[in-house]
Amino acid sequence: MTDAVAFLDLHAQQRRIEPALRARLEAVLAHCQFVLGPEVRELEQRLAEYAGAAHCVTVSSGTDALQIAMMAEGIGRGHAVFLPAFTYTATAEVPLVLGATPVFVDVDPHTFQIDPEDLRSRIASVEAEGVLKPRAIIGVDLFGQPAPWPELRDAAAAKALFLLDDCAQSFGASLAGRKLGREADATAISFFPSKPLGGYGDGGALLTQSGERAALYRSLRTHGEGTTRYEVLRTGMNGRLDTLQAAVLLAKLEVFDDELSRRDRIAAVYDQALAGRVGVPRRVPDSASAWAIYAILLPDEGARDRVQARLRCEHLPSAVYYPRPLHHQPAYAPHHRGNPLPVSEDLATRILALPIHPDLTEAQALRVAQAVLQAT
Ligand SMILES: *Cc1c(COP(=O)(O)O)cnc(C)c1O
Repeated sequence: MTDAVAFLDLHAQQRRIEPALRARLEAVLAHCQFVLGPEVRELEQRLAEYAGAAHCVTVSSGTDALQIAMMAEGIGRGHAVFLPAFTYTATAEVPLVLGATPVFVDVDPHTFQIDPEDLRSRIASVEAEGVLKPRAIIGVDLFGQPAPWPELRDAAAAKALFLLDDCAQSFGASLAGRKLGREADATAISFFPSKPLGGYGDGGALLTQSGERAALYRSLRTHGEGTTRYEVLRTGMNGRLDTLQAAVLLAKLEVFDDELSRRDRIAAVYDQALAGRVGVPRRVPDSASAWAIYAILLPDEGARDRVQARLRCEHLPSAVYYPRPLHHQPAYAPHHRGNPLPVSEDLATRILALPIHPDLTEAQALRVAQAVLQAT
């Protein structure tokens, strides 16, 4: 069935990039340097250039990128790490793995990004309680759009907190005319296959302006090694990106900007068909989205169920990101002090993601939009 609508179509993308992809993979098969081969270095240079960042260190996943960035700052027991309640689980998991405590912050009801005002009040209450030491903020660029970076930088600077950009979903997006990658002290990206720049397996990278941080990240991703291979300076991990993944990503980087504009076109089609009838995603001012996810807001959970049922009926995919805010997840609830996070709680009941990817046609997007409208 050629006109089947996929939530993400990696087959079509593969057909589009096949010659470059095969040439890149053949080169790796020829040299057999499967760990930290030349493609890894080349990818790091290309990503740094793309984002306008001074340094790029590739790692084994977006989650490991977050973890290495926090290990490098010595974040752990007794430290509070502020992050949005409405995000993917990895953002909260990493501080906990390191012994630190996530402090959940609510999000904006229209852009879904972390709410700077709520952030300031959560920092103040942690300080007033005097149990945990505020240590870091993780801003998440959710669904392809940038977090409110100028305000997050102010909040971090006011309390000398480490500022980390969880850009796993949004590499390629820009704010005030510049690509994400230098808004925070470090930026973590993910190459999970469904992200805007996805590999054929797990992968990630860290971007930073700081040479010292980049050197630490390189050491930490290889067991804390020093200048020689068998000198161990610190506790690290095995967190490297495979050469084969770097080869895949180099092939995909060639078409990345074209793919971003294709996604943008689909978003415009949805906007035009749906605005005024259902809640369409509000743009963060002065930004360009990478459109990892196009999420609409229905009036309530019942309406969302009806829309999803209608889409299923017509063999059209949809998905819910995220059905639960993190502070309601069994793994994280015990670490949450019980303050309500009303916007995150509300969004979880009525948000719905529609298919958006570079190989979706405008006609297919219109079919999806029509089915949504029929059910509302
Ligand atoms: C995907 C994602 C991660 C984790 O990336 P992986 O490469 O899957 O480890 C972290 N944070 C957010 C917001 C994500 O969407």
